[in-house]
Amino acid sequence: MKAAVLPAFDTPIETRDDVEIAPPGPGEVRVKVVASGVCHSDLSVQNGTIPLPTPIVLGHEGAGIVEEVGPGVSRVAVGDHVVLSFVPACGECYTCTHGQPYLCEKSAAQAAGGLLDGTTRLTSGGAPLHQMACLGTYGPYAIVPEISAVKIPDDVPLDVAALIGCGVLTGVGAALNTADIAPGDSVAVIGCGGVGLNVIQGARIAGATTIIAVDRFESKLEMARTFGATHTVLVEEGHDPVGATMAANDGRGVDVAFEVIGLGPTIEQAINSVRPGGQVILVGVPRMDVMVNLNAAFTWLYLAKTIKGCWYGSSDVYRDVPRLLELWKQGDLKLEELISKEISVDQVNEAFADMQAGTVARSVIRHQH
Ligand SMILES: [Zn+2]
Ligand SMILES: [Zn+2]
Repeated sequence: MKAAVLPAFDTPIETRDDVEIAPPGPGEVRVKVVASGVCHSDLSVQNGTIPLPTPIVLGHEGAGIVEEVGPGVSRVAVGDHVVLSFVPACGECYTCTHGQPYLCEKSAAQAAGGLLDGTTRLTSGGAPLHQMACLGTYGPYAIVPEISAVKIPDDVPLDVAALIGCGVLTGVGAALNTADIAPGDSVAVIGCGGVGLNVIQGARIAGATTIIAVDRFESKLEMARTFGATHTVLVEEGHDPVGATMAANDGRGVDVAFEVIGLGPTIEQAINSVRPGGQVILVGVPRMDVMVNLNAAFTWLYLAKTIKGCWYGSSDVYRDVPRLLELWKQGDLKLEELISKEISVDQVNEAFADMQAGTVARSVIRHQH
């Protein structure tokens, strides 16, 4: 089959025709991947922010149809339409049974770039190809753990469903699950890419009435307004985004600030933008060596701020995927509007460039089968 492969760290994605896929093993399913979003975290693997072994088939935001099931599979069946979860959730381990399935202990296997047993089901020219997040949705077919596949109704368009798998669960989840937003609250969202736009619409759904979008691209602030931002702050050279955020909120500081970039300086901005007693939610993916300097007395004690890490929107995919689809059906959650471009698998490098230029919310790969 033809798949987009990252051959090595810091090299362009190449389309290969010689990718072979093995049958599903125990607890695994073969999914015909219909659509895959191009997410910033895919680019973060290419540039080394997220270290994964190569060569690898990227893609961790997808939806498709189950075509074959391996021995012992009971959660999904052939023909089921599924959203792929980039964190497998077994439902049985300590974290899954303690309300934190987004930290499922089985998901630790992902760091090796294979499936749950550490091996991969893909080869190219006879050599193993790794799979990002136990998935690899830049290929038209994927063998994935059954605990990474969440059944959805057949009438949901799969390009729309694909986006739920990462950007929507992460962004909307950050607002609805990780943060504690009360109706009438003020929030700031620093970084308005695909995930940040979803934080904005999640904050709107949670009832926030002041939503301040902060970004260095006017194009992204324009998109932010359509997803619910009430104020925008364009970050320019020599400009103080914290002061501008404060000014948009009577100088007090916001109730909740979200950092959706993953840089030390913007994390500090988020912390400085919240009012005393406010919450800071860290959503962006930093490089492994990013450190943050905080004043302990003022950050935590006298100003009593809460800083919370947000992995995968603190989601329970079995609870939240149906919940998000319900919000979409009611017209509260914008999904189609997130799709800026539909592309073929040969156009991933251009999609990465578009993402870096701030011109798209999401490019979505439509696979040919
Ligand atoms: Zn992602
Ligand atoms: Zn688990």
